[in-house]
Amino acid sequence: MGTIHFDFNGEVVFVTGGSRGLGLQIAEAFGRAGASVVITARREQWLEPAEKHLRDQGITVLALRCDVTHPAEVEHVVEQALATHSKIDILVNNAGQVWAEPSIQMPLERWQQVLETNLTGTFLVSQAVGRHMLERQKGIIINIASIAGLSGGEVPFIGYSASKAAIINLTRALAVEWGPRGIRVNCLAPGFFRTRLTQGLLDQGAEAHTRATTPLGRIGRAGELAPAILFLASEGASYITGQVLPIDGGATAK
Ligand code: NDP
Repeated sequence: MGTIHFDFNGEVVFVTGGSRGLGLQIAEAFGRAGASVVITARREQWLEPAEKHLRDQGITVLALRCDVTHPAEVEHVVEQALATHSKIDILVNNAGQVWAEPSIQMPLERWQQVLETNLTGTFLVSQAVGRHMLERQKGIIINIASIAGLSGGEVPFIGYSASKAAIINLTRALAVEWGPRGIRVNCLAPGFFRTRLTQGLLDQGAEAHTRATTPLGRIGRAGELAPAILFLASEGASYITGQVLPIDGGATAK
């Protein structure tokens, strides 16, 4: 796979859910492009090795424990990041969870857990980091939605689909409200990539289904998501805000 070169030297990037999967790939891509990265997640068991993985590559990394559903924890880690770096240039709202179950039997607590993490978490972190960005009249926010937020899809995960659709319109609403104050807000809608979040679904038929029905005939590969985020965070995207970009092998083009 070819590489695209971006330069984020001197920039500070805050990635929620940066301890594994897509969030870690995103943090690594920014770090390799010169940025200092702050990664957050709830559990040390992934946060620590992720921090080491990044540091071993010479990336400046700060790893902080935070549950994005807890407003006080969110405020605290944003303060910690600002105490260390005095600014946050780019926020990637990536932390997310899924629960797959037919809608008719979806337990309320699972619905709430998914909505709280994916939607409320995105809102809370945007609010805490946005306060700082609004003061600077400068900032870039990139939310990770999903193609599940663009259509009904094949997998029954009603809370996930609803949360991701809401993230797409939260993106537009924030872009409209904060655009005049120097902040761009965009979101990505990935199709399937193999991570801890999707491995069960993929092994239970979603990968075969994706291969059979997606124009490019496969799921996404590691490294195929981050370049789009780096582009949206770069000066090259200085006139792009409020948009949703599917990275899905053409699945939503059908
Ligand atoms: P993973 O499960 O591998 O990673 C999720 C990350 O989010 C982990 O770092 C996890 O750490 C963190 N996280 C989960 N809940 C919380 C919480 N309440 N507070 C703080 N951090 C939390 O999933 P992916 O990498 O696959 O997913 C990343 C994002 O990409 C999600 O928003 C997902 O919906 C989205 N996405 C993924 C797709 C895919 O195919 N993989 C497709 C479309 C979208 P910890 O559990 O320790 O908190």
